[in-house]
This record gives sequence, C-alpha cells and structure tokens, in this order.
Amino acid sequence: MARIPFVCGNWKMHKTAAEAVALVNELRDGVGEAAGRVQVAVAPPFTALHAVKQAIGGTRIELAAQDVHWEAQGAFTGEISAAMLADAGCTHGIVGHSERRQLFGETDETVRKKVGALLGAGIRPIVCVGETLGEREANRTLEVVERQVRGGLAGLSAEVLAGITVAYEPVWAIGTGKTATSAQAQEVHAAIRKLLRELGGSVADQIRIQYGGSVKPENARELMSQPDVDGALVGGASLKAKDFIAIVKGAL
Ligand code: PEP
Repeated sequence: MARIPFVCGNWKMHKTAAEAVALVNELRDGVGEAAGRVQVAVAPPFTALHAVKQAIGGTRIELAAQDVHWEAQGAFTGEISAAMLADAGCTHGIVGHSERRQLFGETDETVRKKVGALLGAGIRPIVCVGETLGEREANRTLEVVERQVRGGLAGLSAEVLAGITVAYEPVWAIGTGKTATSAQAQEVHAAIRKLLRELGGSVADQIRIQYGGSVKPENARELMSQPDVDGALVGGASLKAKDFIAIVKGAL
C-alpha cells in the first residue's frame, strides 16, 4: 500500500529562536514544492517551539518535539508535559532517541510511558529504535530492535498503532557520517514491518518507518526508495536548508 513519506528534521540542541525562524523561512519554498506528496516536520529545541510555530504558519511544515515527560504536571523540574507540547503546536513528538537512551537513561519502559502521554495529548509519536555497533557486530540487531519496538508500543491497539511512526536509527550511523546501506536499512525495516503486522495486523501497512543515521542529499533517495523505508529522521543535515530540502525532494 502506498504510504506518504514522512521526513522530520531533528535539530537537537541547536538554534536560538531567531536562528530557528531564519531556518524555517529558508525551508518554506523548497518544502512547499513537495507539499502533499511528502509530509515534513521539524523538531526544534523547546525554547524555539513557539517562534517556529508562528513561522510555519501558512506552510505545510509541521512541528515536532524532541522529547516529553510522561507525567501530566507536577514537581518535575526541567521537564515538559505532552499537554504543554500540544499547546505549543506540536503534532509529533520524538521519543526514545538513542541520545536520550545513551546519555539520559531512557528505557523501553519510559519510552512506552512517553508514547502514552503523547497520544493522550493528541500528538503522534515518532518512536526511535536502533542497535549499537557492538550489538550489530554480535549479530543482535534484529533482537535489539524487536525488543525496543515491542517495549515502546506495548499494549497499543491496532487503531492507535496506525498513527505511530517508527524511526530505525542504527546508533553507529547517527552523527558519524556512516550510513547503513540501503540493503541493511531495508532488512531491518522489513523485520520491523513484520513485527508491526504481528502487533497490529493490516495497519502495519499504514505505519511509516523512517530511516535515520547520517542521511544526506547524496544517499537520501537511494535509502527512501527501499520498499519499507518511508521517509527519514534527519539530524545534522536538517540544519542546512539546502540539504534538508534536497532530502525532502529525495522522497518524491
Ligand atoms: C538523529 O539524530 O536522529 C540523526 C539521524 O542524526 P544524523 O542525521 O546527524 O545522523
């Protein structure tokens, strides 16, 4: 079944509000040309969400958050709730990014709680999974990815699963300049699709599975032409308008 490709830029801890608005203004025209055929979102840091929400008005660019806390409110210094993200205009939320898993103690259990919080606020989760280099070399890629997908999506109904995006991001390819080959990506994406079919039946054919890990204009088209690669989660290259636009066009 045809799935509309979904490309999301993860800006990580880059860009002040003014810089973020300048970047969105550069993205406008290029992304507009792909409108309707590719879904596009950007995930600025929390401090720039409001300004970016204003700046994307009148465009097809959507707003994503980079993380969320699972509690609705309370004494959680430094955290941001899903309701706050919805209030800021976010339609998507990234959870389980490998940097959160490796540097900030994210687990499959906290990913699942965050998925629940986002869904409760009407925000669509982008659930990141992926193996480390050691796990790949030990032939544990599929086992690790399966555990992360099962953990992050545990107990969700098929109807709810239909609105989720999974991002396969091999940790060894993130920010390293090393990209999975299109065959390596397709192998894992197909395994994820098979697992999603087990979890949600035929809705698995609607779920977008993004690839992430050093996606660049030079490799985007080849990666996204694989049958189970339905777009990209883009880090470094999403900070340059020209590169991000080229990647979005690579999904056409
Ligand atoms: C990411 O952080 O989600 C990512 C894929 O980063 P990069 O494109 O820089 O590898």
